[in-house]
Amino acid sequence: MPELPEVETVRRQLAAAVVGDTIVGVTVPYPKVLQTQTSAAFAKAMVGADMVAARRRAKVLLLDFSNGMTLLVHLKMTGRFLLTDRHPEQRKETEVVFLLASGRVLTFDDVRHFGWIKMRRTHEVARYLEEEGYGPEPLDPLFSADVFRSRLALHSGKRIKQALLDQTCIAGVGNIYADESLWESGIAPIRRVHRLRTADVVALHGAIRLILSRAVADGGSSANDYLDIFGRKGNFFPKLQAYGKDGTSCAKGDGGILRKRVLGGRGTHWCPVHQK
Ligand SMILES: [Zn+2]
Repeated sequence: MPELPEVETVRRQLAAAVVGDTIVGVTVPYPKVLQTQTSAAFAKAMVGADMVAARRRAKVLLLDFSNGMTLLVHLKMTGRFLLTDRHPEQRKETEVVFLLASGRVLTFDDVRHFGWIKMRRTHEVARYLEEEGYGPEPLDPLFSADVFRSRLALHSGKRIKQALLDQTCIAGVGNIYADESLWESGIAPIRRVHRLRTADVVALHGAIRLILSRAVADGGSSANDYLDIFGRKGNFFPKLQAYGKDGTSCAKGDGGILRKRVLGGRGTHWCPVHQK
């Protein structure tokens, strides 16, 4: 599933390549992706609108348009935007097609169909996000170790891996970057939050910010199906040290062999030697 670095990469690309362009046509081959409108109402609202900003909160893209509407887009497992110079060949996973005034075409594809698009008035988006209860953005300069500790305190009975995946604790971290951050900071994923010492919280806070920053700089990880809006893979996947590394030697050089088990329904990877 795309996590913060992948969604942020898509956001940056949409901001650079699509903001300023105008939608001149919309077709919706898979109307169920639109959770708030019929296809006809959606097309009527969006044709003629300019994309004026591409924002992100947690793993949700917020695309603002000149008609006063915002499209909230969640990529979920396999949702993806693809920007092409010409109308692409019909693909069965294409859910929405936006024709742009520049002559380019922006499609939203989703093989698994878990992704969604909601249209809201831009001025109502802040309230929507507040109701979702997302925790702080880990790359926000205001996200300090103290803030992290206070968020974790609300999840003190959980295992740390599950707290990291809870979007109301911190926003944007998913399975891959939770495993990587715990590996980096030497904390076992099964540790209970209330058993973490202050030094553990500080180390984990630093690891989350470091790894997410590096992954954003590398355009994210194509661990599964993720591609950016130009159809390219992210470059961070080969740099993962824990996720998908079960059975291999720990890159910390401690002689550990990485293990994998299912924790809270998610495959979890860790080194039994240095993660305590
Ligand atoms: Zn290790």
